[in-house]
Amino acid sequence: MVDSNSLQKIVVFGTGGTIAGQSALRNDNIGYVAAQVSIQTLSGDIAGLAAHVLGYELVFEQVAQVDSKDMNEAVWCDLAHRTAHALARPDVQGVVITHGTDTIEETAYFLHSVISATKPVVLTCAMRPATSLNSDGPQNMLDALSVVMDPQANGVGAVVVCAGAVHAAALVQKIHPYRVDAFSSGEAGPLGWVEEGRVRWSGLSMPSARPLWDVSALPISGVWPQVEIVMNHAGATGAVVQALVQAGVQGLVTAGTGNGTLSQPLTDALLQAMVHGVQVLRSTRCPLGQVVAAPQMAPDSSHDKTIPVAQGLSPVKARVALQLSLMGLPPQV
Ligand code: ASP
Repeated sequence: MVDSNSLQKIVVFGTGGTIAGQSALRNDNIGYVAAQVSIQTLSGDIAGLAAHVLGYELVFEQVAQVDSKDMNEAVWCDLAHRTAHALARPDVQGVVITHGTDTIEETAYFLHSVISATKPVVLTCAMRPATSLNSDGPQNMLDALSVVMDPQANGVGAVVVCAGAVHAAALVQKIHPYRVDAFSSGEAGPLGWVEEGRVRWSGLSMPSARPLWDVSALPISGVWPQVEIVMNHAGATGAVVQALVQAGVQGLVTAGTGNGTLSQPLTDALLQAMVHGVQVLRSTRCPLGQVVAAPQMAPDSSHDKTIPVAQGLSPVKARVALQLSLMGLPPQV
């Protein structure tokens, strides 16, 4: 993969997404097919790329070619192993990963949880296909490279760069289905912004310490623990939970209402699931803030608040955290 010339390298992994999407019409930003253009071709089409990374060599690898609504654990494992391998090389400055916007926050959080290197892992994307009149992929790619080349990026872990903002993996969420500026870091705001090739860091310290799992223990292929997300809503019953337990689910994350609240029938079904050994974490469907845990409840309480809280994680990220924890991977030392 990485040759032996003396330039520092930035490894660019392509995984697909809208950034690699193509449409028959240049003014069609909806009817395109994601994940069509190779990472090499995509990058070759970016005006000014060579000057932007002067002094660095770009090394391209196509890891997958998927619409990220179909992202899966097999690609994650491959990506994690390749990322760890690249970052371990002294001649590699950092990694850029192109990805679809739909699940980029999950992939970023996954990598953030298994990659211990201090070098940056920068995921980027686009909300318009490569063929669009106003495709945003090229600028996002240049911005992602700017972050990798910035000395202060060492230690940030995995971040998502889109529309000029640098978002922490633990906080970033896609909040808009169409707008080019589709991501938010919620109340904390972004870690920084990229302006004309320079990164202006917000000065925010990184969100609290992450659990770090040993990437080398991740199975290259193999079945991950089944963890599903169940939403509370008006009229929520326990039927979905009962069906999932019957199907052998190992973990459940709830996207609860408000402060992680769950209807009584859903609570009853979840408590029953826990009796059967299913691990349950409570999150919230609210896009901002996090579930504020109640004081310790009596052990025989049938209250939803006896279910453990997913500390500060959105439901999709709590699901990743629970999968990794259920895998019993050794912590990284
Ligand atoms: N469905 C696309 C994907 O996630 C959307 C995008 O990339 O914007 O791959």
